[in-house]
Amino acid sequence: MAYGKAKEFYQNELESIKEGGLYKEERYIHTPQGADVKVEYPEGSPPKEVINFCANNYLGLSSHPDVMEAARRGLDDRGYGMSSVRFICGTQDIHKELEQKLTKFLGTEDTILFASCMDANAAVFEVLLNKEDAVIADRLVHASVVDGMKLCNAQQYNYKHSDMAHLEEKLQEAQGARFRMIATDGVFSMDGDIAKLDEICALAEKYDAMVLVDDSHATGFIGKTGRGTHELCEVIGKVDIITTTLGKALGGASGGCVSGRKEIVEMLRQRGRPYLFSNTVAPVIVAAANTVLDLISKTTDRRDKLEKNTLYFRNKMTEAGFDIKEGIHPIVPIMLYNAKLAQDFAKDLYYEGIFVIGFFYPVVARGQARIRVQISADHEMEHLDKAIQAFAKIGTKYDILGKKKKEIVAKYGL
Ligand SMILES: *Cc1c(COP(=O)(O)O)cnc(C)c1O
Repeated sequence: MAYGKAKEFYQNELESIKEGGLYKEERYIHTPQGADVKVEYPEGSPPKEVINFCANNYLGLSSHPDVMEAARRGLDDRGYGMSSVRFICGTQDIHKELEQKLTKFLGTEDTILFASCMDANAAVFEVLLNKEDAVIADRLVHASVVDGMKLCNAQQYNYKHSDMAHLEEKLQEAQGARFRMIATDGVFSMDGDIAKLDEICALAEKYDAMVLVDDSHATGFIGKTGRGTHELCEVIGKVDIITTTLGKALGGASGGCVSGRKEIVEMLRQRGRPYLFSNTVAPVIVAAANTVLDLISKTTDRRDKLEKNTLYFRNKMTEAGFDIKEGIHPIVPIMLYNAKLAQDFAKDLYYEGIFVIGFFYPVVARGQARIRVQISADHEMEHLDKAIQAFAKIGTKYDILGKKKKEIVAKYGL
């Protein structure tokens, strides 16, 4: 009866999570993902139609008819399951095709698929680096990059968020290592800010380091043709390794990849543990992802609409008097600073038909509570205008319009 003691411990932990106001609850969506969804909230209430502003459905491809049709065709032509890891009998022609399409789209040398970007990050550091090496990461990299780095024995350094002088210091400290690798997100998920990849690549050249970019919040729509952060920063060909996800802009189902130097991808096929010991993406998803890559390679219409929507929303919200983090990314952080205010504000918006989530510590730094709005190419002007009006109404209720951090904090505390 060992569980008795553990059970009590877990119950207490869960209780303290709840007391800390940090207990996460799921909201059940009763429709396909899209701009308009029906959400059951709180649990047990009849589903309510709301406009979705919290999905990573940047290009609006999650329920796109062509993508769904491709998935159906994939099911008919290639079946449901692979029942094997890839190197035994779990690779189909369409898996290879998708890897080639990703390579071409990202402008790299080769690509290897994983079941998720989390798996891609779990594989990549361990295969490439050992204790003679050093990895130097931005302090705000995604949790999956943090975990991936933990799985390798390399010396670990980190630098202050986007602080190039600090990165340079760490590169100097790490000069004794055999190999150095700089790791960063292309776009950081809480602020929507963009890594200084041009400067990072220049430092990498100066100090003889490889560069790894997790571009999950960029692939498909950042840069003029949507290649990602390396396109925006004009360093295509200089980033050695890109890890990214199919779970956001590229249809949003699941899957990820490592794309980059040919030898690196080849090494991952020999030694990447999530590749060797876990099934890859199912045929249905691969078939649909192939169509997604065709769609976004053929035209930048969706990416351009997303950019237009983002600019419109950012401008109108600033005009309305909200304190938003500047930038160009469809992640738009509406700063409220106080955790309870962020929660109450999001709840009120829900009853106005706007589905957004309040973020607060420990997801963001203490005193940095916010509502994170995510714009999609699926949003029409009516969606955006309805959201802006609802935000203004609730902003008036809490008397925060036209107010900056100092005034909001003076009223609500941190
Ligand atoms: C979403 C995200 C991931 C995880 O992607 P999955 O494919 O869902 O595992 C990894 N890295 C970053 C930066 C992300 O934003």
